[in-house]
Amino acid sequence: MVKNLVVFDFDWSFVDQDTDRWVFEVLDTKLRRKLQDRKSAGSQCMPDVVSAGNALSERGRRRRQEREHLGTTHPLPLTARPVSQRADHSDETMEDLFNAGYKKDQVLDALRQLPVHPAMKRAVTNLKNRGETTFLCLSNSNEVYIGTILEKHGLTDLFDQVITNPAKWVGDRLHIGRRLPADGPQHGCTVGCLPNMCKGDELDAWLEAHGGKGSFDKIVYVGDGGNDFCPLLRMREGDLGLVRKNFELEKRIEREGKEKGCKIDVTLWDQAWIVDEVFSKL
Ligand SMILES: [Mg+2]
Ligand SMILES: [Zn+2]
Repeated sequence: MVKNLVVFDFDWSFVDQDTDRWVFEVLDTKLRRKLQDRKSAGSQCMPDVVSAGNALSERGRRRRQEREHLGTTHPLPLTARPVSQRADHSDETMEDLFNAGYKKDQVLDALRQLPVHPAMKRAVTNLKNRGETTFLCLSNSNEVYIGTILEKHGLTDLFDQVITNPAKWVGDRLHIGRRLPADGPQHGCTVGCLPNMCKGDELDAWLEAHGGKGSFDKIVYVGDGGNDFCPLLRMREGDLGLVRKNFELEKRIEREGKEKGCKIDVTLWDQAWIVDEVFSKL
């Protein structure tokens, strides 16, 4: 029997949403706006863009420099790592949410309202039930968001491991950290992963701890974002990228795939039933 590894990015891949945005969209428009001002106006997976027309603060300037750097093939020197990035913005906006009086239960209820497409549930459940497929989640969201959503949909046991940013409740305040803490050793990825996590390194480390690439006949990666490009470069000929159509990952593969030595097969998808169709033929 063929032994497969299926790796899922979470936002816009496993679910049709950005989990960081969702909580604020459900609960509070003003805070959703604040998150928007802190985060990218473009792809949710790239670093920040300061809103056009706003005077740039010192931090804004650093964020823009960071974005410009990541758009090139040259990595930022470790000493120039940004003070703030995606997970930090979610954490800062969680602080605002707490200060506005929102409670833990309201945040959890908001997460439980986030839909998982029935066809995606069917795709993963059927494949899992056939046996011999291991599921791994690699996400820039956080433990609490992903754990709550999976639990609500009865999918807690789907993933062998969820590799993401740490999060913990202190009373009604959710603290969201970075997978790689800002004050610890940083990854040396030159492909353009966000500072908090190199998904390629994470995939390699997970494979290393689970018998190496050779213990899987095929690795399938389901992703959409610019930061899903790096792990694809670690995969082999014959492995498969299920790449979401019209998102940043598709553009990166077009622009850089050949030059960076991307060897995998790529299938584009836009709706969950297509993932189900591909999974049914694995
Ligand atoms: Mg994503
Ligand atoms: Zn990387």
